[in-house]
Amino acid sequence: MIYQGNAITVVRGDDDIATLTFDLQDESVNKLSSAVVTELDEAVKALQGESGLAGLLLTSAKEAFIVGADITEFQAMFGKGGDFLESMLVRVHGIFNAIEDLPFPTVTAINGLALGGGCEVLLTTDFRVMSESAQIGLPETKLGILPGWGGCVRLPRLIGADNAVEWIAGGTQNRADVALKMGAVDAVVPAEQLEAAARDILARAIAGELDYRARRAEKQQPLKLGPIEQMMAFETAKGYVAGKAGPHYPAPVEAIKVIQKGAGEERARAQAIESKAFVKLAMGEVAFNLVGLFMNDQVVKKKGARYEKQARPVKQAAVLGAGIMGGGIAYQSASKGTPILMKDIKDDAIELGLKEARKLFAKQVERGKLTTEKMAERLTNIRPTLAYGDFGNVDLVVEAVVENPKVKEAVLAEVEAEVSEQTILTSNTSTISITRLAQNLKRPENFCGMHFFNPVHRMPLVEVIRGEQTSDAAVAATVAYARAMGKTPIVVNDCPGFLVNRVLFPYFGGFSLLMEQGADFARVDKVMEKFGWPMGPAYLLDVVGLDTAVHAGEVMAEGFPERMGSLGGGAKGEGDSQSAIQMMFENDRLGQKNAKGFYAYEEDRRGKPKKVRDEAAIELVKGVARESREFSDEEIIARMMVPLCLEAVRCLEDGIVGSPAEADMALIYGIGFPPFRGGALRYIDAMGVDAFVALADDLAKELGALYAPTDKLREMAAAGERFYDTRNQAPAQA
Ligand code: NAD
Repeated sequence: MIYQGNAITVVRGDDDIATLTFDLQDESVNKLSSAVVTELDEAVKALQGESGLAGLLLTSAKEAFIVGADITEFQAMFGKGGDFLESMLVRVHGIFNAIEDLPFPTVTAINGLALGGGCEVLLTTDFRVMSESAQIGLPETKLGILPGWGGCVRLPRLIGADNAVEWIAGGTQNRADVALKMGAVDAVVPAEQLEAAARDILARAIAGELDYRARRAEKQQPLKLGPIEQMMAFETAKGYVAGKAGPHYPAPVEAIKVIQKGAGEERARAQAIESKAFVKLAMGEVAFNLVGLFMNDQVVKKKGARYEKQARPVKQAAVLGAGIMGGGIAYQSASKGTPILMKDIKDDAIELGLKEARKLFAKQVERGKLTTEKMAERLTNIRPTLAYGDFGNVDLVVEAVVENPKVKEAVLAEVEAEVSEQTILTSNTSTISITRLAQNLKRPENFCGMHFFNPVHRMPLVEVIRGEQTSDAAVAATVAYARAMGKTPIVVNDCPGFLVNRVLFPYFGGFSLLMEQGADFARVDKVMEKFGWPMGPAYLLDVVGLDTAVHAGEVMAEGFPERMGSLGGGAKGEGDSQSAIQMMFENDRLGQKNAKGFYAYEEDRRGKPKKVRDEAAIELVKGVARESREFSDEEIIARMMVPLCLEAVRCLEDGIVGSPAEADMALIYGIGFPPFRGGALRYIDAMGVDAFVALADDLAKELGALYAPTDKLREMAAAGERFYDTRNQAPAQA
């Protein structure tokens, strides 16, 4: 035994080959936490002190090789400042370089997933053998940082600058055959032959058949690139990647610059360039928020997994209604392997639902993601019907008929009589209280909300809504089914708008107030898109549908009259003006569905709706303006964001949602809240709760209750509290 730690052991074999095994105790995966890095340091020192060794094999005793650095340590680490980070990087470079410089040949046996720091470790050895099912990659840019432990230096020297740019800027996870083709690994073998193959390479290197010193030198020298290659690999890539990532995600382009600047340098200089860029990114707010997002996603996934454990699995599902949502739900269920009955009352509706599903499957075939045979097989997972005949063995029903409480109540009571006593009933309603819909049911405990977003196949969120009488078993089964459909379920309590629409409508309220004061909606859209939203509020209203928005606005107005009263029918009394949203609706401008709303819609060459300026809409909106005020970008952002963020705070305070993590993830997954901003509550944290309260108070003086902070938020501000861990202060923008 050369070294024994909690995560790493190094043993010496009879053949003088040392085997370093990663096997982090009490964990299911290997991670390079700071404790493990310290062990690696000790293990390498022990290897350096051992005389007469002939070679080194790096390996893992877990299913994955190493999944990466320990991301849960990042925020605290980034918060310690640039000098700390710099010295951490210098230290790790020292350890990794020491592996690379060992006086004998080295090889890694990549048995499973090797990502981030886990991938950077295996780049230090002279050779790599990979199991057929393993994958490797450097996904750091997705977290707003870049590979900082030598990945930006070693990978391009191994697979070429152009390939490395693709892997690093794209953060891709790469299959073994691709890794082999590009030269990232030397051989790919079946799992059971992995260790023998790795040892064979070592033996050949020891015997002088393979020149390990030459391989090593390649990784440490400047990259050999002509001016044209430089141009192609870097300049073209920078333009392309910048366009794709957008201005809010600086890491991918920064990574390309690091590869470019380091290309002509020796190892030490190139690593110093990498470290400097890493520190700059890690100290910025985007990295802080994206790392926070990763951790929030873990919280949500873990909660989901906990529910799933208690759930009765859904082997057969059913959906009522084959419309936009029902068709989408049927497709999604079938495509992920849960058979589903699709019932409607109209033949042509069923035809339409099936046509939509076929179209989506065909797209998958076109993109090479599905074979035609598989498509045929998956399509048979959808069984259309006009009758309840087969409902006796259905485990879970999603009701997605028209948004009318009377129709829904009747349909739910009807289906309850056709299913077994264990069957879980759910409703995809957007606006009707789940507790109310349960009133007519014989088994209200078996009922909850299952709120999908449009388009179902694309939107990751499913809100699972617990009514007053909903049982844990119903919630668990619904969560499990949503996960089986590849969605991210978030459990919330019942209230008007549930979580996501309740938070979204005050944002529309902010928009209406801006219109009343004479703001230009196209400009508001532009400002909010620049802020990071996938579409501005007017455009979003057109996509949602103005009729739907007016209806939902009425529900919200009824639910929260004090602050959302004006979201509904517009004119409330004398002197009250009509909202721009109401004005659109009353003039039969329903949005994309009838090709006219705040914008007019034309079909583009691919048959997709393209928005164009429409004078008639502009005139109508002018009609609701009581003044013609000019707003700065900052004012527009504040007037739009403050009501949304405040409602998220209220949902948390009212127990509608269980944690800041779930609230923020629901907004990101459900309505496209800009991910790099981390969510509404993290946005308040970033501003500082006290600064946010001051801003809201200021606006409330002029604009009323929609902008008034809650008492508890004031208390938080006074006490210097935050929504997320106070130890992890967001660093100032670098
Ligand atoms: P839709 O009008 O496209 O489809 C409704 C379908 O239900 C129609 O095909 C109709 O024939 C069918 N139907 C009516 N009565 C029925 C019955 N008794 N049995 C079986 N089928 C019946 O509506 P949609 O947009 O798909 O919305 C459905 C539900 O989803 C609504 O509750 C809506 O609020 C909710 N929702 C919609 C969206 C959206 O963006 N469209 C988003 C989230 C939730």
